[in-house]
Amino acid sequence: MSQTTRRDVLKSLGTAGVLGGGAAMAGCASVTAQAQTPTTPFRVAATTIPIVGSSQVFPVRRIYCIGRNYAAHAREMGSDPTREPPFFFQKPTDAIQLVPPGQTVDHPYPPLTKNYHYEIELVAALQSGGRNIAPADALKHVFGYAVGLDMTRRDLQRAMGDEKKPWEIGKSFDKSAPIGPIHRVEDTGHFTRGKIELYVNGKVKQSADLQQMIWNVAEQISKLSEAFELMAGDIIYSGTPENVGPVVRGDVMVGKIEKLPDITVKVV
Ligand code: MN
Repeated sequence: MSQTTRRDVLKSLGTAGVLGGGAAMAGCASVTAQAQTPTTPFRVAATTIPIVGSSQVFPVRRIYCIGRNYAAHAREMGSDPTREPPFFFQKPTDAIQLVPPGQTVDHPYPPLTKNYHYEIELVAALQSGGRNIAPADALKHVFGYAVGLDMTRRDLQRAMGDEKKPWEIGKSFDKSAPIGPIHRVEDTGHFTRGKIELYVNGKVKQSADLQQMIWNVAEQISKLSEAFELMAGDIIYSGTPENVGPVVRGDVMVGKIEKLPDITVKVV
């Protein structure tokens, strides 16, 4: 049966026919096969990120974040920055908040916290993946890069850590992942060095160089792929340098990574 005919048959069956199956579809294998794809009672928005210089958008599958990937930040968080294996956590995909360059995006101060922190981070976006990827092969999986903020309810993160409970409430809340558009590797090259900075109300708060990362992007991909099968659409927040700190309502944060446009976020 042709595609058009099949659609016509389904249309004539209507929703009841598709959901109910039964006599109307008996003897028509191709209709039955198609009807097995269930419909949904409501729509859930897919998360996508604009791609600079393209009419396409990047579909986000998972958000991975690496913890304590700059030595001075590891020290300020109270841990030993020797080269232990990197550790990871995730944010839900819909934690993404898009921040178009040239705009100031309002970012709601989240509930439950009294110590809300910025973390400026380079984000790598994958076009493919796999398991047990060697560092030497890792960068070919990168589609592009973006400027991101790993916003953190530090008081809740610390409290949960102290109690040996999961971090989710401190890290994985609504809009906790502001991000600029994705720049394709063919336009920017890979990011192994270059300034990474965060300003609040015009004053520099975080300032470091990407080459200070303990685990570079290729190594992050390799290590992550030992624990998870990476796939196209995964994005990786690569960790923040030292001098994380709090923002309050009214503060304007500007995130900067050399060779990428700034992102500007106002806490409201
Ligand atoms: Mn972080």
